[in-house]
Amino acid sequence: MSAERPAPARPPADRDRSAAPPPAAADGAPSAPPRPAAGRARALLRRAGAELLAALAPPACLACRAPLRADDAPLCAGCRRELPWLRDPRCPRCGLPAPCPAPCPAGDAAFAAAWAPLAHDGPARALVAALKFRGALPVADLMAAQIAAGAPPALLAGRALVPVPAHPARRRARGFDQAALIAAALARRSGRPLAPCLRRGGPATRQLGASRAARLARGRLRVAAAGPVPPRALLVDDVHTTGATLDACARALRAAGAVEVAAVAYARALPR
Ligand SMILES: [Zn+2]
Ligand SMILES: [Zn+2]
Repeated sequence: MSAERPAPARPPADRDRSAAPPPAAADGAPSAPPRPAAGRARALLRRAGAELLAALAPPACLACRAPLRADDAPLCAGCRRELPWLRDPRCPRCGLPAPCPAPCPAGDAAFAAAWAPLAHDGPARALVAALKFRGALPVADLMAAQIAAGAPPALLAGRALVPVPAHPARRRARGFDQAALIAAALARRSGRPLAPCLRRGGPATRQLGASRAARLARGRLRVAAAGPVPPRALLVDDVHTTGATLDACARALRAAGAVEVAAVAYARALPR
């Protein structure tokens, strides 16, 4: 894959293989919101520390930590073979392999179509975690390359790319917004315009670990348009789980005048 770049090596302390976030790290919802300046300073320090350790540690596979050869980055050959590509046919509405569970989980969603190249499992899950929780920023371009290479042409044609917005508190704590990075890389690769027109409000609730019912409770996610929205929009996110976040974003876009909304994510969570 020509899109791959040398993997940033990981600090030795950061060797967990699970996709779960470290308990008190970037994704932990703080009991009291940090002051923005303090949050930014912490994010900068964390980034500087990771870069320093990356310069000292040998390059390792982002999924299994095996040492990497120069042409392997960012996944070793074994993990690349194990990437859980989703195959056609699949349901055009919810993006799950066809036939999707009846009724289709996206049957009443505000987005008309959804697609992802990979299942949210194995090395794909590890890449999502490496970007989101460990700040492996070059992974965003790899994800965009894999989306651009496989997405049905009609999904991208004539649409502007709208990143699913992170909560401002989360973006401050991490120092970046993974969906915005993937969308920007996808815009570069596809030539489609970028339209970061959505903003998240309300409390910084967590999707990860929340019950399915809680995630699906409509109104839990406060998303609104903060500027002109494109008539035809393609939402971009790292993971499509229940679709509740994508639905809230699509509703906000349609309420602000979008005519048609579709969604793309790097990884699709399969029902258990
Ligand atoms: Zn590996
Ligand atoms: Zn479906």
